[in-house]
Amino acid sequence: MKAACISKHGSLEEIVIQDMDSPQPGIGELLVRMKFAALNHLDSFVVKGWQGLELKMPHVLGSDGCGIVEDTGAGVSLFKKGDVVTINPGLSCGKCDACLAGEQNLCKTFSIKGEHERGTFAEFFTVPEISAVKVPVGYPLEKAAAAPLVFLTAWRMLVSRARLKPGETVFIHGAGGGVSTAAIQIAKYLRATVITSTSTPDKVDKAKKLGADHVINYRDMSDFSSHVFKDLTGKQGVDVVIDSVGTKTFSTSIRLLRPDGRLIICGATSGPATDLDLRQVFWKQLNITGSTMSNQKEFRDVMKLVFSGKLDPVIDKIFTLDQAREAEQYLVQADQFGKVVLRE
Ligand SMILES: [Zn+2]
Repeated sequence: MKAACISKHGSLEEIVIQDMDSPQPGIGELLVRMKFAALNHLDSFVVKGWQGLELKMPHVLGSDGCGIVEDTGAGVSLFKKGDVVTINPGLSCGKCDACLAGEQNLCKTFSIKGEHERGTFAEFFTVPEISAVKVPVGYPLEKAAAAPLVFLTAWRMLVSRARLKPGETVFIHGAGGGVSTAAIQIAKYLRATVITSTSTPDKVDKAKKLGADHVINYRDMSDFSSHVFKDLTGKQGVDVVIDSVGTKTFSTSIRLLRPDGRLIICGATSGPATDLDLRQVFWKQLNITGSTMSNQKEFRDVMKLVFSGKLDPVIDKIFTLDQAREAEQYLVQADQFGKVVLRE
């Protein structure tokens, strides 16, 4: 089969299309013929590598993917050949206390498809049947592939970690990112007020169309945090900040929060290091919470809303599997609004 792989860590130039043996479904696993797969920032971090990441090379990239069940391993009971599925990229042991309590993303062996094991950027990939859901007939497959990682991440952040309530105000950095396009919609679904930031007039319009109440073009303002504080929240600050950007945004996130506000962090695309003034944390009595992926129930809950059309994955651009490297280069330029997708 054809797959987008790396044979060593380095720049995105390491991504090549090569022939390799198709995987075989293990016990409880599905073999899926990929129709669409979606990119995430995680892909480029895996290409670069980090200390402790030991991959079996060549490594197939990709966490999100949807397609048609081609074969089933021993013991599979929920799916049959021909079913159309999309997947939860979070993988766990299924046997430990955390997994048995339904908190699979707290499992000590928790990993993400495409991060520690072969991913979805290939003609075929395998997945445990417990991590798959059927795609309803007629639902667009490119959206079914684009939704899982960003929607399950945003759902856990806002619903389970922030416990966002109707009438509260949430600030979301970088409206065009995949998690942000999901978080804006989920926050509106939860009847919160949404303030978001972005970098071009075109993206301002798109964020408003997604439902954001206030959209700031941060390139137009030297200090947008004081505008948010004074003009948009009546000098109160926001209840919740969603931050997946890291170094570039962390101090602004802290400044934007009201006393007892909640900062939820799910990533650090601009870098992991930060100078935190602890006085701001204790004086404002802030709550700083991490969040990673979701458990299986959160994944299923949010995908029901996606499949019913209440939440709508935003797709910026579709490339072919052969163009995986160009697609990754396009994503790291951060000019997109929504998801970048590969088709078979
Ligand atoms: Zn476990």
